[in-house]
Amino acid sequence: MMNAAFGELGLDWRYVKLPVPPARFAETVRALPGSGYLGANVTIPHKLAAHELADERSSAAAAIGAANTLSFDDGMIWADNTDAGGLLDALDQPVAGLRGLVLGAGGAGRGAVWALREAGAAVAVWNRTAERARALARDMGVEHVERPRAADVLVNATSLGLRGEDLPAELGLEPADVVVDLVYGAVPTALCRWGERRGARVVDGLEVLVRQGARSLERWTGRAAPLDAMRSASTAV
Ligand code: NAP
Repeated sequence: MMNAAFGELGLDWRYVKLPVPPARFAETVRALPGSGYLGANVTIPHKLAAHELADERSSAAAAIGAANTLSFDDGMIWADNTDAGGLLDALDQPVAGLRGLVLGAGGAGRGAVWALREAGAAVAVWNRTAERARALARDMGVEHVERPRAADVLVNATSLGLRGEDLPAELGLEPADVVVDLVYGAVPTALCRWGERRGARVVDGLEVLVRQGARSLERWTGRAAPLDAMRSASTAV
């Protein structure tokens, strides 16, 4: 997706995958600028470490406590969390005053709760392990619920659906106007299919992936992200 975007922008840049063991994360990242890297995306399990080692952080990264984007500027490491803004970009509609329900209290859940709250939604969070939802709700000043409740905007930030599995009936999800599944794959997830059957506007995880990537790319290049090229490349995987 990123290499397609660089090509579209006429940049002779490369996006490469660097598997890094957690014990070597900090030393590896600190060596990247000297090797010609301008930035990096960071994924599981390094998002907390990326937030920690940065010299400066965006308000999103600071509030969420995790970073997925690093930029190397003049010897400084700058951290951002574009998962949050990418979710709002993918939603592409105002959510102020709407009821948001986030399923999941892991890293993605934290980002989704923060994003919806910042955008003015009334947010509740549910998690399989209730204590994590309670802690997240406390941290972010939102509500936690013991079972999923009705909402205008429903966001799945759990890993349910990652293996193509059906939604557990006991979740008892209620229809929402907008359904966002952060989980993505080659075929629509069970939650996306469920939302479509109920007439919801459905935003899939690939669109969120593209939009968080677009924000990273814009930070590194200073150029508008070529979204269509990124979408085509993301569905070609
Ligand atoms: P994480 O920190 O490991 O959190 C996993 C979450 O899933 C926890 O809330 C966990 O609940 C819940 N969970 C796992 N198995 C479950 C089950 N069987 N039933 C109910 N809940 C279950 O992972 P993450 O970083 O938040 O990522 C979550 C998902 O979002 C992943 O699938 C990831 O690929 C996706 N994601 C997508 C994007 C995107 O751009 N589209 C961005 C970020 C993440 P417990 O606390 O009870 O274990």
